[in-house]
Amino acid sequence: MSRSESSFIGILGGTFDPIHYGHLRIAEEVVETIGLREMRFVPAGRPRLRYTPIASPQHRTAMVHAAIQNNPRFVLDERETRRAGPSYSVESLREFKQEMAGNINLCFVMGADAFIKLAGWHNWRELFGLCHVIIAARPGHALATNHDILPQELREECAQRWVSSASSLECASSGLIFVAPTTLLDISATTIRARISAKRSVRYLLPDTVLDYIETNHLYSGEE
Ligand code: ATP
Repeated sequence: MSRSESSFIGILGGTFDPIHYGHLRIAEEVVETIGLREMRFVPAGRPRLRYTPIASPQHRTAMVHAAIQNNPRFVLDERETRRAGPSYSVESLREFKQEMAGNINLCFVMGADAFIKLAGWHNWRELFGLCHVIIAARPGHALATNHDILPQELREECAQRWVSSASSLECASSGLIFVAPTTLLDISATTIRARISAKRSVRYLLPDTVLDYIETNHLYSGEE
């Protein structure tokens, strides 16, 4: 099956404050491993569970655009920054499902640090009726494959959902969990912001197009 015929679309939500090679590399590798038709990058407007982003939704969206514009499989989706009120992934996934033809299945991608907090998300159990969940390991965060470290309610909800191969995702239209093999990159937006604020280099942690945008707009330097 060619990728354009694939029934799977990936969704990578995030604050992207700013987007970096950690995001881009997991997106690339998950597209390849699962054979996704495309990966949608969905910048959060006002994340409910986190700090208030430093850069505005407009800047964060523009940086995602600058980072992905040359990859035909990567698509920017601005629905959460356009929505009034907090960003809920479940709400976006519901919308995607309604908009897409019935034979399209969704793969929601998250790092291991985000997955372990899933039970704190708005209507989190509904997620499993809308999409598969794809987890990427992250340096410094416990492996999602060690189920003992998961909070009890998450562990119980997920117990029958784990699959060990990408091809097993085709057995159902949603509700399965797969830990994708991805290159571990110890890059975080927090570190990037701290380095810029300390006037240290962030080159090679994120695309030059994003770095140019940050410099042009004086983001994260304390001058904005
Ligand atoms: P911050 O440091 O501000 O918390 P972040 O680097 O974690 O930001 P987010 O935009 O919050 O970036 O991340 C979006 C998604 O990408 C989350 O699911 C997160 O776990 C995942 N992710 C981010 N960086 C990596 C990385 N280096 N490796 C694997 N997953 C990552």
